[in-house]
Parts: sequence; structure tokens; C-alpha cells
Amino acid sequence: MKNNDVKFWSLTDHDTIAGWPSAELHAKQLGITFIPGVEITCERGIEPNAEELARHGRERASKSWHLLAYFPNLLHGSEKAKLFAQWLKPLQNNRIPRMKKMIAKLNELNMPIDFKEVAKKAGGSIGRPHLAEAMVEQGYVETKTEAFEKWIGDGLPAHVAQPKPSIDEAVKMVKLCNGVTSLAHPLYYGIPPLELGEFCREIGIDSIEAFHRSHNDEYRFELWNVCRELKLKVSCGSDFHGQTYGQSPGNMATPINQLCV
Ligand SMILES: [Zn+2]
Repeated sequence: MKNNDVKFWSLTDHDTIAGWPSAELHAKQLGITFIPGVEITCERGIEPNAEELARHGRERASKSWHLLAYFPNLLHGSEKAKLFAQWLKPLQNNRIPRMKKMIAKLNELNMPIDFKEVAKKAGGSIGRPHLAEAMVEQGYVETKTEAFEKWIGDGLPAHVAQPKPSIDEAVKMVKLCNGVTSLAHPLYYGIPPLELGEFCREIGIDSIEAFHRSHNDEYRFELWNVCRELKLKVSCGSDFHGQTYGQSPGNMATPINQLCV
């Protein structure tokens, strides 16, 4: 990141804030400003629209919406920091049992996977991309995408659902703790941009992650315009899940005067 001239960095692991202290420490050593963040797995805010999915060539929408939360002003050990950690804990604690259940299902489907191998790949917050990686390594699938599309995607044979807060609850909690929110990678949800923007504004989401690696220029532009119209902010994220997607932080053009943090 330092080599890419990144000046601000937020770590937004899925449903955990365990990485904050070490991220902060390393950012400091490199002279980068660290912003504590997290990506919260929530229930869908609106049911997907078939036409919008088809427009992007997507077969189905994801069963959860991801809410990015950033806390530029949160102080270590403050009451608000404790409150947020406490609220998040049950969501984080569920990730390991859920992974074990998915591994058990794969086992039944004659695709044995060692939990320890998956945990090693995750390092911290364990999730399906790590499981997909292990499946590729074992030769059960050719690619991570195939793992998601055949086995571990929402509703598929080796998938296990996780308990999720509603978007509304998550937004209220983040606000209570002085954080700002951005709706992550809306491409996966199948909602027309204007409807999505109006929903965000109504529920109090501050911004939309219009600038995401999965969005083509046209879709990025549509979202950006909707945000401008509705006076919402935008955010930009690498959605870093390991090296496989080839992201390079600091290399996506973004209108900085409209950024949420
Ligand atoms: Zn996400």
C-alpha cells in the first residue's frame, strides 16, 4: 500500500474487528492513516429485481447485503467502542461453527476438507472464499467461482445460512457509535440504482460503494450519478480477499470530494 501511495486505509473484515490493533500499528509504521472499519453481513434490504439481475448477466442475487461501517473518530476503550464490540460479537462467534457445518456437508458430498487448512488461509475472519480456495486446492472444483456456483453459494448443497441483523438494525448501531456506513458492492443485490439509492437515503445509509472492482464503468457511473442526485456519498473498496482477484489498493479512480469518510 505504501508503494501505491495509499494515504488512508480502512480494514473492513467480515463481522469482526479483531484486526484493528495490528492494522493500526502497521499503518502507523508506514505513515498511513488508519480508519477502523468492518463489513457487516445483514439481511436483504429489498428483494431482488429479475430484470436488473438479467441486465448484469447475473443468475441470482446474494442472500445477504453487506454494510460497510467506518469509525474515523472511535476512541480505543471508549464506551461506544465497547458497545459496538459487544453488539458484533455474536455475529463473529458464529463464523467458525458455520464453517464447520459447511465442511461437514462437503464431507457428506465426498469432498473432505480439513478445517485447519481453511482456518490457516483465513488468518482471522473465516469465510466462504477461504473454503472455496481449499476446494480448488483439493481439485474438487477448477475455480473459486465454480465452488460458489455449484456448492457453497446461497441455497446450494453445501451452504449453511448465518444469523444476520437487518440493515436497519446495523445502520442504527453504527450511527449510535458515531460511525458512517456504505452499502457494499450493490451489483450483487439486483436492485435498480435509483431504487437502491432511495432505499439507502430512507434508511440512513450514508453512501454506496459505487467504486468496486466488480462494477464496470457504466454501472459505476450510474451509481455515482444516483448518489449525486440523492446527496449520498460514495466509497471505494478493494474488497481484498487474498491475491486472487488481483486488486491493487489505491489504483481505482474515485471522486474524492464525495467520499464518505
Ligand atoms: Zn462483501
